[in-house]
Amino acid sequence: CGIVGFTGRENALPILIKGLYSLEYRGYDSAGVAAFTKDGLRVVKARGRIANLEEKIKEEGGDMYCTCGIGHTRWATHGEPSDRNSHPHLGGKGKVAVVHNGIIENYKELRERLEAHGYEFKSETDTETVAHLVDYLHTGKQEDLAKTVLQAVQRLRGSYALGVVSMDNTQEIVAARRGNPLVIGIGEGENMIASDITAIINRTKRYIILDDNEVAIVRPDSVVVMNEFGDTVEKEIMTVTWDM
Ligand code: GLU
Repeated sequence: CGIVGFTGRENALPILIKGLYSLEYRGYDSAGVAAFTKDGLRVVKARGRIANLEEKIKEEGGDMYCTCGIGHTRWATHGEPSDRNSHPHLGGKGKVAVVHNGIIENYKELRERLEAHGYEFKSETDTETVAHLVDYLHTGKQEDLAKTVLQAVQRLRGSYALGVVSMDNTQEIVAARRGNPLVIGIGEGENMIASDITAIINRTKRYIILDDNEVAIVRPDSVVVMNEFGDTVEKEIMTVTWDM
């Protein structure tokens, strides 16, 4: 299973698909992407191979040009492998999209509480609770997305690598991790997130390792990493020294 995300100046879709292919070796049962297109935040996801996802994108008109998006390969833990249970998952009325690797242990309790607040769940996954929780904490507040994700992860038990995007800033990806790996690829006028460096190495050799409980704000020209208290932390930029 794996996560990839890109924000920059060229078409993100082929970069996301290529990134997903390079994460294939980790194993998966479904794949999906979310992208900010001219029609807004669009999600396409499909059970099975990445080729199925590409086919579905073609069927749905093909044009998913975007300069910022997130992608996911899923290894189902909660909810059978199906189109519906594939990631990304949308929060609320579709303003927020989330990809997740890991397991949210308290998802049942969170789901009940969010349903009591009127949220309608479209899948059986633990992940969808994160999408609605972020939407709930975000809606009607001035807080930026990263602060909201920070509040959301404090309510989660279990493990996660997360990629979150919101219509509020269509150039920004917020990443978070606890227990599952996540790296940030540092490019020139573009940055990426990924489960491991195989997915970023085609575009950049420089990267940051996100540590447990950190949250990152990733934009085309900047990467800011915060600790669990919301304070900015200085991260070492590593360089890949081998070729693939
Ligand atoms: N627990 C999540 C699900 O079943 C994420 C699985 C994964 O790591 O791909 O949808």
